[in-house]
Amino acid sequence: MTANVGDLDLFHADGDPGKAPGRYAPSPTGRLHLGNLRTALLACRAARVREAPFLLRIEDVDTGRSREEWIEVQLGELRQIGVDWDGEPVRQSDRHDLYRGALDRLEADGLLYECFCTRAEIREAASAPHGELPEGAYPGTCRELTESEREERRQAGRPPALRVRAAGVKVGFEDHLCGTVEKTLDDFVVRRNDGDFAYNLAVTVDDAEQGIGEVVRGQDLLDTTPRQLWLYNRLGLAAPARFAHVPLMLGDDGERLAKRHGAITLEERIESGEDPSAVRRGLVESVEGILGPG
Ligand code: GLU
Repeated sequence: MTANVGDLDLFHADGDPGKAPGRYAPSPTGRLHLGNLRTALLACRAARVREAPFLLRIEDVDTGRSREEWIEVQLGELRQIGVDWDGEPVRQSDRHDLYRGALDRLEADGLLYECFCTRAEIREAASAPHGELPEGAYPGTCRELTESEREERRQAGRPPALRVRAAGVKVGFEDHLCGTVEKTLDDFVVRRNDGDFAYNLAVTVDDAEQGIGEVVRGQDLLDTTPRQLWLYNRLGLAAPARFAHVPLMLGDDGERLAKRHGAITLEERIESGEDPSAVRRGLVESVEGILGPG
C-alpha cells in the first residue's frame, strides 16, 4: 500500500504478501559466505511458511564483477545447505529489454538526465553543505545542464551515467523487522556510465515483473529500499507487500563477516571437517526467532 503519511511524500506500509512468491537474488561475484547462505535460508523459509513459491534470480547485471563460473558454484552451495527453489532461476543478463523499457518510461516522463561527474568530483561537491540532502548525496551538479553544455561534455569523451530526478523526495516504509525507515532521496543512478543498468533499477523491475510479494534480504540493503519505492511509484509498478531486512551475520569481533574471520564459506567449513547439514543446523539455530512465527 502506498499513501501519504505525515510529511513523507511516499510511504509504504508493511502489508500481507499472501501467497505471492518470495525470492533470493545472489550476485555471481564469488562464493556465497555463511551470512549470504543464512539470508537465503531465511528468505526460503519465509516463503515456505506462507506456502508461497520461492524463486531464485541471478543478479549478473554488473558485468564487470559477475562471472559465469560462480553461478553453478552458488547454486550448488544453496542446494547443499538445503535451499530449494521453484522453476529455473532467471538471469538479469536475459532481461535487458525490460530494464531498457523502464528507462524509456522514465525518459518519456522527463525524469532522467545525463551525469558526467567522476566519483572524485561527486565526493568533493557532496562534502559541501547543500540544504536538505543527506551526507554523501549527489549534489545535482549535472541536473540543470543546458543541451550545449551536455554536448560539450559528451565531446570531451566521458560517457554519461543516467540519473533520476528524485532529489528531495521523502520516502518512508515500514520494514517487517526494522520498523519505520525514512530517507530523503538524492538523484540516484539508474544506468552507470559503463552502460550497465544499476542495481536499483533492475531489482525494482524484476521484483515487480516476477510478482514478488515479500523481499527478505540483508540489512546492508535497507537503505536502498526507499529508492526502489520511488521507482515503483514512478514506473507505475506494484511494490512487494512486505520488506524484511534481516540482520547481517557478524564475526567474533562484532564486525561484518569477512575473510579475516576465518572459515566463512561452506567449502571452508567442509574442509575443516563439518558436513553441510551441520552447517545448516548452525545457521538455522543462529536465526531462530528472527522472522517470528508465520
Ligand atoms: N544481489 C544482491 C546481493 O547479492 C541482493 C539484492 C536483493 O536481494 O535485493 O547482495
